[in-house]
Amino acid sequence: MATTEMSAETSSPIEKTPLERYIAPAQPSLVGMNRAELAEALAAVGVPEKQRKMRVQQLWHWIYFRGVRSFDDMTSVSKELRTALTEKFTLARPEVVAEQVSVDGTRKWLLRMAGEQGGDRPHEVECVYIPDTGRGTLCISSQVGCTLNCSFCHTGTQRLVRNLTAGEIIGQLLVARDRIGDWPGGMPPSDGPVPMDGGRYITNIVMMGMGEPLYNFDAVKEALLIASDGDGIGISKRKITISTSGVVPMIERAGNEIGVMLAVSLHAVRDPLRDELVPLNRKYDIAELMDACRNYPGATNAKRITFEYVMLKGVNDSLDDARALVKLLEGIPAKINLIPFNPWPGSKYECSDWSQIEKFSEVIFNAGYSSPVRTPRGRDILAACGQLKSETEKLSARERMALRAMAMTE
Ligand code: SAH
Ligand code: SF4
Repeated sequence: MATTEMSAETSSPIEKTPLERYIAPAQPSLVGMNRAELAEALAAVGVPEKQRKMRVQQLWHWIYFRGVRSFDDMTSVSKELRTALTEKFTLARPEVVAEQVSVDGTRKWLLRMAGEQGGDRPHEVECVYIPDTGRGTLCISSQVGCTLNCSFCHTGTQRLVRNLTAGEIIGQLLVARDRIGDWPGGMPPSDGPVPMDGGRYITNIVMMGMGEPLYNFDAVKEALLIASDGDGIGISKRKITISTSGVVPMIERAGNEIGVMLAVSLHAVRDPLRDELVPLNRKYDIAELMDACRNYPGATNAKRITFEYVMLKGVNDSLDDARALVKLLEGIPAKINLIPFNPWPGSKYECSDWSQIEKFSEVIFNAGYSSPVRTPRGRDILAACGQLKSETEKLSARERMALRAMAMTE
């Protein structure tokens, strides 16, 4: 499978283990729980109601501020309570089954988690860390695969799709911090990233991994509220971005209930082409999408909406398109992010020529918009935008039966 093959330039601190070796944690994990859920967990182990608020605060600190992986490390919690918690719960995060490091320092993790209830095999997603000067961005997945089948995106070709839980979403951040030593007092691995200004390695989060975050609204909301909570992970909402392909009915709720930055995968300025590139456009067309953006709660000139535009040679990259793009964004506090198309095995598009990207960018810049071209990162390990795809596929009924039969004869 291409995503997990090592290229000559990359190192592989963690080799991929076979899917069958995964053993799901026996008890539920506290990772991903909000305060109310932690209070319920404490009630379940017999903590009296009047103590719960204080205990929740302690758990919150140990799980989301310190990042401990064992109840034993929660030194401010009584031994008795630690034992009781160990019996009923875990602090499990998704399991890291492969790690690849790009020549440019980008890291990609393949993460494994339990399959569907009573289901076939464990599921896998990818998560990418992109270190940069003065900041480090973590690109998080919201679903296993994606139902939306954008024609230029590798993730859209994956057959099996399921929503990740809040724990599996925030768990990606915990795992990334574990791996790069980004907890208070933590030591990065010797081949690790360069420290950022201010001492944190992960300063920004983008929901731009696998999946459509607004199709998994509740879990994404829970996870991002945990990520931005000042008593725990504490990443400012201004440094968290949700990228959507245009799930119009959820855009307003995202602004009101999560309040993070919005990025919209536009990619085309006319409906017939956008219908082809982003099939969701047949449901919510460009005009509706622009209206939702115009009304996005909290969008101001200081908090602009990012419009992502993938540069596809001869498809959407004419200067006419650039001019139409500028016109379309009139009245919206916007910035435009031009993404050079990242090819993947079997993709049918080519990336626009560099000179064309420059000309396109100039039209936008001259109209008063910033139009940075996103430098592709981690291309050698297929970690760049739209290249993520995990091996998890739904088994056919026949394959499932064969697997069960094998298990029974073992
Ligand atoms: N599903 C969400 C978020 C994940 S995709 C969305 O579509 O917005 C993150 C970004 O990468 C999106 O803008 C997506 O359109 C873009 N993308 C997908 N495939 C790509 C590819 N092959 N090359 C460059 N960008 C791609
Ligand atoms: Fe899904 Fe986004 Fe890829 Fe489209 S671009 S298939 S919405 S992950």
